[in-house]
Amino acid sequence: MNELFAKFLNCVDRNRIYNEVENLWRKEFPQTSRAYLAAAEYTLELLREAGMENVEMISFPADGKTVYQDKCMPLAWDATIGKLTIRKSPRPFAEPVIADYQRHPFHLVKGSAAIPEGKRLVKIITETQLFAGEDADGALVVCAPSTVPGAAILKTALDLGAIGLISDYYAQACRVQAPEAIGWVNAGTEGANWHVIEGDRPFVCFSITAGAGDQLRQAAEVGEVTALVECDGRRYQGSIPGVTALIPGRQKKEFWLMAHLYEPLSDDNSTGVVAAIEMVRCIKELIAKGDLPELEFSLRLVFGAEMYGFAAFAEHFGGNLSERTIGAVNLDSLMAGNPNQRLHVYAAAPGTPFFGNALLEIFLDQWKDKNAFPVAKFAESGWYDDDTLLTDRTVGLPTVWFIGREKMFWHNSALTMQLIDRRIFARICATIGTWIASVVTLNKASLAQIVRQAGAYGLSHLAIEYRNILQKGLSADEGSEQLLYRLQRDCERLEDFREVGSDPEIERQIELLQAATQGYLAQIKEQAPVTEERKGKWFDYSATVLASRVERGFPHDQTRLPRCQRRSLPDGVIYGPFSRVLSNMDGQKTLQRVIREAEWEEGTVFSETKIKEYLGAVMFLGKHGFLKVEYNQKITHADILSALQNVGVRSGDCLFVHSSASAFGWIEGGETAVIEAFLDAIGSTGTLLMPTFTSPFNSFEGTLNKGRRYRPFDPEDPSQVRVGSIPRTFLQMPGVIRSRHPSHPVAGIGSLAAACLEAQQENDPPTGETSSFAKLVEYKGRLVYFGCGLAPSTFLHYLETVADLPYLKDSVCRVKNKDGSLRTVYIPKNLPGDRDFYRDVDGNSKFFKKALASGLKMNESTLGCGKIRLLEAENFYAVGMKLLSQDPNILLCDNEECLFCRKYKQ
Ligand SMILES: [Zn+2]
Repeated sequence: MNELFAKFLNCVDRNRIYNEVENLWRKEFPQTSRAYLAAAEYTLELLREAGMENVEMISFPADGKTVYQDKCMPLAWDATIGKLTIRKSPRPFAEPVIADYQRHPFHLVKGSAAIPEGKRLVKIITETQLFAGEDADGALVVCAPSTVPGAAILKTALDLGAIGLISDYYAQACRVQAPEAIGWVNAGTEGANWHVIEGDRPFVCFSITAGAGDQLRQAAEVGEVTALVECDGRRYQGSIPGVTALIPGRQKKEFWLMAHLYEPLSDDNSTGVVAAIEMVRCIKELIAKGDLPELEFSLRLVFGAEMYGFAAFAEHFGGNLSERTIGAVNLDSLMAGNPNQRLHVYAAAPGTPFFGNALLEIFLDQWKDKNAFPVAKFAESGWYDDDTLLTDRTVGLPTVWFIGREKMFWHNSALTMQLIDRRIFARICATIGTWIASVVTLNKASLAQIVRQAGAYGLSHLAIEYRNILQKGLSADEGSEQLLYRLQRDCERLEDFREVGSDPEIERQIELLQAATQGYLAQIKEQAPVTEERKGKWFDYSATVLASRVERGFPHDQTRLPRCQRRSLPDGVIYGPFSRVLSNMDGQKTLQRVIREAEWEEGTVFSETKIKEYLGAVMFLGKHGFLKVEYNQKITHADILSALQNVGVRSGDCLFVHSSASAFGWIEGGETAVIEAFLDAIGSTGTLLMPTFTSPFNSFEGTLNKGRRYRPFDPEDPSQVRVGSIPRTFLQMPGVIRSRHPSHPVAGIGSLAAACLEAQQENDPPTGETSSFAKLVEYKGRLVYFGCGLAPSTFLHYLETVADLPYLKDSVCRVKNKDGSLRTVYIPKNLPGDRDFYRDVDGNSKFFKKALASGLKMNESTLGCGKIRLLEAENFYAVGMKLLSQDPNILLCDNEECLFCRKYKQ
């Protein structure tokens, strides 16, 4: 292989490819759809010049609504003007034009929409001021330096009336080495989608240098800053091209070389595109010279808009690619200029078996200590990511990824041609090209020898796994299953060599692996300790869930759901183990099994919290049709009703319910079923109350709000409710009324609802004598904790209010008027700071321990994985007031480092 490497290196034309990278990069630079087309046309030209066959451009829609594998294609976008000029500032700007698309295209964030009148004078406020309630209407918000200019902050800023953001986030990393750098913002959108799509709200966003960012934040802190905004950005329905070429081999089956277009950075990814073409050209030349055998497999070059473009290509070529392809390599961010750069190499993840993984291991080992490109990390179990996501079992294209891991110049304007070194770039091309050549020219003549080597690697994998199993002290059962899973992966990989042809060596090596496994299994049985069986309620529950995939490709943008229903998914779906869980679902294995497979692949054990998170996401994806999910243990309306009766709920009760919908497992009928069960339990004479608290504070006990959840209270907007999905659903049910308090509104229905909710005014204390908590005592109501434990005991704040404890403090809130304007509301005796019971688990906080020992009566019943608890308001009040009179500090914590509790302890 080293000999081949030398020949390959000799073949690479390093000056020409350097120039090609520069040309392509300059075409992509303006970031517009017009620039994309120019880049695609230039790529087409490069392919033709390199003598590639079957070169074609495929036009995919850029209409902001066509969805491939749950990735929504962008809207086309053009701009020529994007300028931000400081007009008024308490500190003068030497260069008042702090952003100008004409000066550098990164200054204007892709997708920015035109100012209808062309230019507009706006005020600039900081992110800190935004969350402290400064009026953001029509303003631009300059983000904190560490704030990613992504969905979370953009959505908040637009919700609060701002027209967009100013960010220096991506300029921070290299502020010393390249102080004039400007960040390139890719996904400046409100959702998981990377690009602006149909229905996205308009924004204007700017990217500036770190120095300008500092100056702007400092100026806005001490006085009024205004700026002139100019933008002619235009979103429209257009198209976005993909470019491909096919070089036929002996077999029709294709190996793909993938690289993404349209990120305007020299090494991200003009180098990847040019390298892919050069590698194929060299392979053809070496074949012509007789230095390489004929192509066994056909070679396809695939250049598109990264995750979105690759998903579009996959669908263009039939969706599931396993019949058409053998595998792929992705080239992205090779970091072809840093002499100390080390490559990271990710094998194709196990979702789709690939014989090329074996060749990769052979190749990397032969490379060790040799004078080729150094590899710092090799991930044998691969990675699903935005470039390798087609490895997913439902798509079937196992993709290997070579990447240089260098973050300093990542996504910023310092990543220019100066960071590309011709010699290093050529070496990378030859290094990766040599491996690719070994995959695509593997033929029947060389097969047996390679399979023998692959078998030897399989044996070493088993040996390593065996050692790990004993070292970790796994039980014999667990260890055996883990080892058998390793065997399965290696056998699948050997089986995949049949793509080249049948050879008795394949079967022989598989038998050797099986025999070795039998030996290890016998050893494990003898040596493995009898450890306790793994326990965990969510781990156990996952064994009763069977999830299978119904759609091709990983769910991602959730475009088909209304925006308010989309949620962020674990690990961003593709950046962590959740992708393994999804990929390994086959409709046969339980969710517990696929979770364990993901653990084995990662060499880790997930916490109960993690498993609960994955379960929650699977339920969500099942509910919305992205997965088919069957539950062996599901909770029905009847189960809830009987659990409520068991805990003591009676017809005619007046209930105040705190809840957590995720505590039980799958509930048939969801939140609505829960609410209906409550209504059935209390009957037509009962009353049901639920908290629908929000976060409208802009100042609290003299402290400015820093919480991102801050929104001026809008009674019309149920998405503001921060206490769970059951109250959010309850609030929207017909007949439900709500108290008018801005921070602590309560919703209710039933005979006493109006009596409980109507007395409180918006500037009353949240938990005072006019609140529903006082009424609850008066009407002998009861508190139900439905799955949430005792920590959300707002009732205790009522006791604090009655006892007039010194730590209830003034707050100032913002409230939205009917006409959309805002007013400020002063609320006395609000509830700042910390309390010990906020961390209560099963009654273990100071207060509840004492209260339960002093006559607090608590009923408890079980429902699925969760618990329901019931307290009587009158009894709770009596016991609580007695304890508070004995010890007014009982609700504060004893942590010395808690400044709040320390300050107010009497
Ligand atoms: Zn505390």
